[in-house]
Amino acid sequence: MTEIRLKPHKEESLHRFHPWVFSGAIARIIPDAGRADGPSPAEGELVCVTSNSGEVLGIGHWQVGSIAVRILAFGTDRLPERFWHERIGAAYRVREAVGLVRQDNDTFRLVHGEGDFLPGLIVDVYAQTAVIQAHSVGMHCNRHVIAEAVMAEVPQVSSVYYKSDDTLPFKAQTDGARTGWLVPPAEGEPQDAFWSTENGLSFRIDWLQGQKTGFFIDQRENRALVERYAQGKDVLNMFCYTGGFSLYALRGGARTVDSVDVSKKAVELVEANVARNFPGETRHTPVVADAFEYLRSQREAHRTYDLIILDPPAFAKHRDAVRNALRGYQRINAKAIEMIRPGGILFTFSCSQAVDKESFRLAVFSAAAQAGRQVRILHQLHQPQDHPINIYHPEGEYLKGLVLYVE
Ligand code: SAH
Repeated sequence: MTEIRLKPHKEESLHRFHPWVFSGAIARIIPDAGRADGPSPAEGELVCVTSNSGEVLGIGHWQVGSIAVRILAFGTDRLPERFWHERIGAAYRVREAVGLVRQDNDTFRLVHGEGDFLPGLIVDVYAQTAVIQAHSVGMHCNRHVIAEAVMAEVPQVSSVYYKSDDTLPFKAQTDGARTGWLVPPAEGEPQDAFWSTENGLSFRIDWLQGQKTGFFIDQRENRALVERYAQGKDVLNMFCYTGGFSLYALRGGARTVDSVDVSKKAVELVEANVARNFPGETRHTPVVADAFEYLRSQREAHRTYDLIILDPPAFAKHRDAVRNALRGYQRINAKAIEMIRPGGILFTFSCSQAVDKESFRLAVFSAAAQAGRQVRILHQLHQPQDHPINIYHPEGEYLKGLVLYVE
């Protein structure tokens, strides 16, 4: 196995169990003795990382890029024989322990990358299907054994889809398809219309064409909180995608719910989801529109709401975009706050990893000031228990939300 020897003192973060080795920390690449094909390991290959004095620090996947190695196991140069089964089995037991595996809830994130000690891997479970997403070439190379382990460890799973077109490094040399079935559904099982249950509500999941792995499981607990506040309210669910928050608001007794998204395909799924859960429902209005244009037109029409949910896509995909993102958050929150009736509530979110909690809060407070309204924080929200944060890898924290009471 290739050895990756670090520069002096660069072993410190690995001693603290941080799972990334940056390319700048590497002193030498020492090829496997038996190999003649040059100093660089192939992308996705397992490598052993050592300190400058030769101490074995761990074993992980090699990748070309600023994160050169993602560590799978610390203090060893070998992976245990049943490594994938053990890690995935352990992840499943956490989901069971926190009460996410139930008759009325078969939707959960099974593996959340570094948060489940599997850097570069995401696995979401929707009823009988698991959707695997690789963010590293190493995980791509192991997709079949991962699928096998998921099938073995998670009793409800009988088919596995792989969806890594958008997440694998564009330039990486990878063999085999980046998207497609790894274990197709058996005959007699649904082939393309997949329904999954979250807290007793049915959602049609479209991982074939939908965003991410098909659904935003990370908002489950926050949607449940919306249900608690929805009684008798006029609700706007902005950036609704397939209507997660809308369904909870309807079940919570909202007077009306408007669901807005720029994607026509998403809004069609909201309609299918409302029809399935609330046949003949008349309180719901689906709208295909750009958020800023919708808010402007509604404001001109003097439309107001009791409860608004703002869950935009990540405005900052990386560090350089943070300033613009904060301006975007401020602008959209100001527009929303202006439309809230006195005594109303705003649920506002940022899923940009690069935007920290404090900056987001400041942007929202500037928005309130700009709208000339008094606001108070009722709740500070974050990602749920099936998106755990590895304490040694704070970069895993990304979702933050505020629930504001608007005077
Ligand atoms: N709240 C959703 C997830 C939102 S994801 C849930 O609980 O499932 C962000 C959504 O914003 C996507 O569906 C995307 O289509 C939509 N979107 C992106 N840009 C938009 C814009 N300018 N106006 C309206 N919607 C937009």
